[in-house]
Amino acid sequence: MSASGDLYRCSTCGASLSLEQLRGVQCPFCNTVFPHHGAAVQHAALVNQVMANNFHQAGYGGPPPQITPQYGAQPPQIQNPYGNVHGQIEQSLARSAKITVFVFVGIIAMMVILGAVIGLVVFLG
Ligand SMILES: [Zn+2]
Repeated sequence: MSASGDLYRCSTCGASLSLEQLRGVQCPFCNTVFPHHGAAVQHAALVNQVMANNFHQAGYGGPPPQITPQYGAQPPQIQNPYGNVHGQIEQSLARSAKITVFVFVGIIAMMVILGAVIGLVVFLG
C-alpha cells in the first residue's frame, strides 16, 4: 500500500527502515541496537567467552612455565644470595679438581695400556 522499502520497521520507534539501514548496527532514528544484531553480538561474545575458557583450560594464555633451577649448575642460594659465595667457590674448585684427577688418571691408564700393548707386541714379535 505504501512506499517501497517499507517492509522493515524499527521495533522500538516504528520508523520504516530500508535494507541498507537494516544492515547497520542500530536504528538511525532512535539508535536502538537491532535485535538481530544484538543477538549476533551476544552470540559472538558467548563464543569468545567459551573459547577463552577453553584456551585457559588448555593452559594457553596462563603464566609461562617456571624454569626449575635443576639443570646444569648448582641451584642459586635463594635465602642468602651473597652469604655462601665462598662455599660455592670451594664446591666449584673441588669439582674442577675432581675433573682434573679423573683426566689425569685416564691419561695414565691410557699410557699404561698403550705401554702394555706395545710391550706385548714387542714380546710376541
Ligand atoms: Zn528506531
